[in-house]
Amino acid sequence: MTARIAVVGGGPAGLMAAERLLAQGLEVDIYDAMPSLGRKFLMAGKSGLNLTHGEPLAAFLGRFGDAGEALDPSLRSFDAPAVRGWADELGIETFVGSSGRVFPVNFKAAPLLRAWLHRLRGAGARIHVRHKWTGWSGDGGLCFETPVGAVQHGSDATVLALGGGSWPRLGSDGAWMPVLAKAGARIVALKPSNCGFDIDWSDHFSARFAGQPVKSVVLSFGDTHVEGEFVATGSGIEGSAVYTLSAALRDAISSAGAAMLTLDLAPDRSAARLEAELAKPRGKKSMATHLRRVTGLTGVKAGLLREVTDARTFADPRMLALQIKSLPLRLTATRPIEEAISSAGGVALDAIDANYMLIARPGVFCAGEMLDWEAPTGGYLLSACFATGRAAGDGAARWLALDRA
Ligand SMILES: Cc1cc2nc3c(=O)[nH]c(=O)nc-3n(C[C@H](O)[C@H](O)[C@H](O)COP(=O)(O)OP(=O)(O)OC[C@H]3O[C@@H](n4cnc5c(N)ncnc54)[C@H](O)[C@@H]3O)c2cc1C
Repeated sequence: MTARIAVVGGGPAGLMAAERLLAQGLEVDIYDAMPSLGRKFLMAGKSGLNLTHGEPLAAFLGRFGDAGEALDPSLRSFDAPAVRGWADELGIETFVGSSGRVFPVNFKAAPLLRAWLHRLRGAGARIHVRHKWTGWSGDGGLCFETPVGAVQHGSDATVLALGGGSWPRLGSDGAWMPVLAKAGARIVALKPSNCGFDIDWSDHFSARFAGQPVKSVVLSFGDTHVEGEFVATGSGIEGSAVYTLSAALRDAISSAGAAMLTLDLAPDRSAARLEAELAKPRGKKSMATHLRRVTGLTGVKAGLLREVTDARTFADPRMLALQIKSLPLRLTATRPIEEAISSAGGVALDAIDANYMLIARPGVFCAGEMLDWEAPTGGYLLSACFATGRAAGDGAARWLALDRA
């Protein structure tokens, strides 16, 4: 009899696992708590659907920090060219942007998801929405809450791809954590990743500048410098350059209570040049006009400078130049996980074997963001979800073949 596999979680990781299982002739049921699949994937499409990154593999693997070694085989076997080839087979043309990021040419997720689900259904996948997995029954059946009450389904193997903890309204709420901890798997608490931060702005600053982009700056924390842009929010900062530093900032706040981020507001000018320009006589011009004329700093950049600079520094061209090149911003907290792009934490990588199978629960495989890894934005998140989903699907098929041989 053909083995029957349950894939629980219909995001990119679960769908990729299902695809591999179906390709090996297995029967696949996909269960998801939500009324439709891939909601976070569709949300990722709202910002352009950055599918992967075209940089050399060594740099790519380096984005995963300590988890890079464990994820290496799966990321290597489904690298950026493979992701692009896969999208192409689904009729979705992609391109590599100037930053190396890879997007569909139409920047949309819906056509890709539609084509993918169509192909999965065609290959025999049975899709069960509004099925929230709650754990195992005494005889090992999968328990679900559904609109018609509690139901149970059996399976010969199970792939869990339940996502992390960000944006829970899209389906991934981390409710699986106590279930897997009880099953004996080591679980690391979920933390926001690629998240914004709180800063104690003055009422004046937040009323005047909330929502404004701060472009062409360099953000520094420790030895890491990131050139790019971010957004000043009513409660602090968010956006791509901030996300790149967010893991280190989050960990610093958690151990020291706050983190000091510095901003170079004028990366194309040296401190010496700024000092010389600021020292020019300003005559009857206001300080704001003088600053704009000699440094080009206006709007939110000038607002940031004023927000954290005292009068004595403003009056001294040398000190002001140094302040423009290294403006300190004190971050007091991460924004809540509900607002983060992704999460860190989840099933510890030492709780799974090379097939992505839970050591504590043979026959149960895990993939995607529910595993304890994190990476910056840039296509790395989806890439790792695809790659680990693929590896878990292959792992489950391999395990079944051995188990049933
Ligand atoms: C606003 C936003 C933009 C993003 N943009 C990008 C981007 O451009 N590039 C990129 O690489 N990444 C991006 N990401 C991150 C990326 O979308 C996620 O990393 C990815 O979707 C995670 O895939 P996953 O399959 O592991 O989990 P998910 O996509 O979260 O899917 C998990 C599925 O499991 C289901 N589920 C959860 N618990 C249960 C349960 N108990 N029972 C049954 N079903 C359950 C959920 O309903 C969900 O459908 C973005 C994220 C956000 C929030």
